[in-house]
Amino acid sequence: MSRAALAIVGAGPAGSSLLERVAASAPELLGGVPLLIHLIDPHRAGTGRVWRPDNHPGLWMNSLAEDVTMFTDDTVTCEGPIVPGPSLYEWARSVDDATLAELGVPPVLAAEIRSLTGTTFPTRRVQSVYLDWFYRRVLAGLPPGIEVVVHPTTAIDVRDVGDRQAVHLAGRDEPLLVDAVVLAQGHLDVLPDETSRAYTAFAAAHGLVHVPPGHTAEQDLSAIEPRMDVIALGFGQAFTDLVVLLTEGRGGRFVTGDDGVSLRYEPSGREPVIHVGSRRGVPYRSKLDYVLQAPRALLPKFLDNAAIEALLGRDELLDFRRDLLPLVRKEVGWAYYHELFNAHPERTTLGWDEFARRYEEAVDQEAIDRLVAASVRDPEDVFDIDRLNAPLAGLRFGSVDELHRHVVGHIRADVARRTDPAYSADLAAFHALLVTFGAIGRVAASGRMTPRSRVEDVNGWWFSFFMYYASGPPPARLRQLLALEEAGLVRFLGADTTVTTDPQRGAFVARSASHPDEVLAPALVESRIAEPSLSRTADELLARLRDRGEVVEEVVTDGDWSANTGKVLVAGPALNLVAADGQVHPARHALGSFTSRPAAGAFSRPRTNAPAFRQHDVIARTLLRNLAERHRPSRRGADDADLAAASATGGRP
Ligand SMILES: Cc1cc2nc3c(=O)[nH]c(=O)nc-3n(C[C@H](O)[C@H](O)[C@H](O)COP(=O)(O)OP(=O)(O)OC[C@H]3O[C@@H](n4cnc5c(N)ncnc54)[C@H](O)[C@@H]3O)c2cc1C
Repeated sequence: MSRAALAIVGAGPAGSSLLERVAASAPELLGGVPLLIHLIDPHRAGTGRVWRPDNHPGLWMNSLAEDVTMFTDDTVTCEGPIVPGPSLYEWARSVDDATLAELGVPPVLAAEIRSLTGTTFPTRRVQSVYLDWFYRRVLAGLPPGIEVVVHPTTAIDVRDVGDRQAVHLAGRDEPLLVDAVVLAQGHLDVLPDETSRAYTAFAAAHGLVHVPPGHTAEQDLSAIEPRMDVIALGFGQAFTDLVVLLTEGRGGRFVTGDDGVSLRYEPSGREPVIHVGSRRGVPYRSKLDYVLQAPRALLPKFLDNAAIEALLGRDELLDFRRDLLPLVRKEVGWAYYHELFNAHPERTTLGWDEFARRYEEAVDQEAIDRLVAASVRDPEDVFDIDRLNAPLAGLRFGSVDELHRHVVGHIRADVARRTDPAYSADLAAFHALLVTFGAIGRVAASGRMTPRSRVEDVNGWWFSFFMYYASGPPPARLRQLLALEEAGLVRFLGADTTVTTDPQRGAFVARSASHPDEVLAPALVESRIAEPSLSRTADELLARLRDRGEVVEEVVTDGDWSANTGKVLVAGPALNLVAADGQVHPARHALGSFTSRPAAGAFSRPRTNAPAFRQHDVIARTLLRNLAERHRPSRRGADDADLAAASATGGRP
């Protein structure tokens, strides 16, 4: 019986999880066919680039330890076996000293792991250890007949050779010959766009500094000098990383006051002054750090299976804002008010039963708004997505200083609210948003929504709101931001910030819709992770496939409207690569954020039937069935000798 071979390009969390799913189903599906799996990644296999062990200790996850798992559980609806295991938090509680020593964990990091609680936001270094442990456990539990070989290098091309795939690696002459390839390449670098190139050229001509979008943790920030004014464009995760590296990373430290709460920043003197702006002009909403005060509302309530089936059964294509959003608002509002009325009844004028009856009967958002206005005492207790989503909308200040003070107040209020169980209804809304996320994904993936609405409303507007509301920094990070502001090291620029170049004044110039002032600086950092773009990819492998028409960017059309999402087009349940001529490649698959079908933008949460597990399971089982089929003893030809001969003539990059 010939040995089957599979290549996984990218051994970060997704590649590692796929490996686990392959191992889980192999005994059932491989029929005894031996299998060699090549794992290719220049970074450490199992953790990959983002979760490298040498991450700066100041860089944190923005997930709670109890919300991260690499293991399937019985909520996951997949065909493959469920192989349960600990979440990051459960692992930190149970892992013994000997195991940590085996993993090469230094004492400081071991102490950090030991001190984790479920609601800790762990450092990236801690997550790196958990991922390493998971990966090693998968390797140790591989079924007989499966071997994994790690190639610590970059894959630079994939070619068809007969009916197999030749995977070319940097620094190696012979390609790997395999039956199938899975690209699990994650967050890829892209070449700068026109605007970014212009910024770089301007900086070079005027002796200024420009840092384009990218993996902040890996970028060279050394040209940013102490006390230099820096404009940071982008207020998300990449901005947080930037601030850490330019403050604590330069020797400053945060000191907690005697009250145990207040925070002060002691500068090292090597920090620049960061002026940050973005479209919203404020940071993402703080994560919540308390628990519900009343029993959880039973969900789904309005956006249940029957409602989804009814939507999918309609004759016309669906529009997110018209057809789905009203149900989403009603669902999230139900959870929010359930908590408000049950946990904080003194702030309402009706009992829950009465409110619930009328809420259920309300025929539209206007009716809900009227009911809420009549039964909730404080406008601050009204759940209003539009108000939450754009806190600076319509506000115009006399100067950037005035705007700055307003944003400081906004952040203070946000942290205070998101850490105060009196506002536990916000947490109920957060839970409901996670539940509706799955339902929205199901409708969006059904093909029953207009392509334009799927791209603009779901992937655009809604996803942006979701990330802003549910995926922000831990409160401690925002307290640090306020301490840095107090130390004069962070300044806020306002909403709809734009940056131009001014050759006369030899500076980058930031302007905002929130005030009339200009802010000039000799340095600009585009503090965001680059959006996926196949046409501008910096990855050699994808660039080669693209240039030969073997992968193509997803272009969504809707009548005379069209949009290029920049993502690699995949098709079918096993996410096969699609070529420019529309051919679906049976032996090439791709999964993750750079593809047209990303499962999620974050780690799987325990007990949520996480989409990533389901997706990885389908690909794993498809691969295994195909491999078993090809390598059954009865199959003639295509043995390794034929392949070696084919490779001698086969394409080199
Ligand atoms: C900075 C950052 C922080 C994040 N923080 C969180 C968080 O706190 N919580 C959360 O839930 N999610 C977070 N995410 C989102 C997501 O959970 C992680 O990005 C996760 O790492 C995605 O896993 P992945 O394997 O798909 O991609 P990656 O982790 O990017 O791994 C892909 C791997 O592919 C390799 N690769 C790429 N091209 C090639 C090639 N040609 N040849 C060989 N190897 C290649 C890379 O070296 C990399 O190791 C974060 C993302 C980023 C970028």
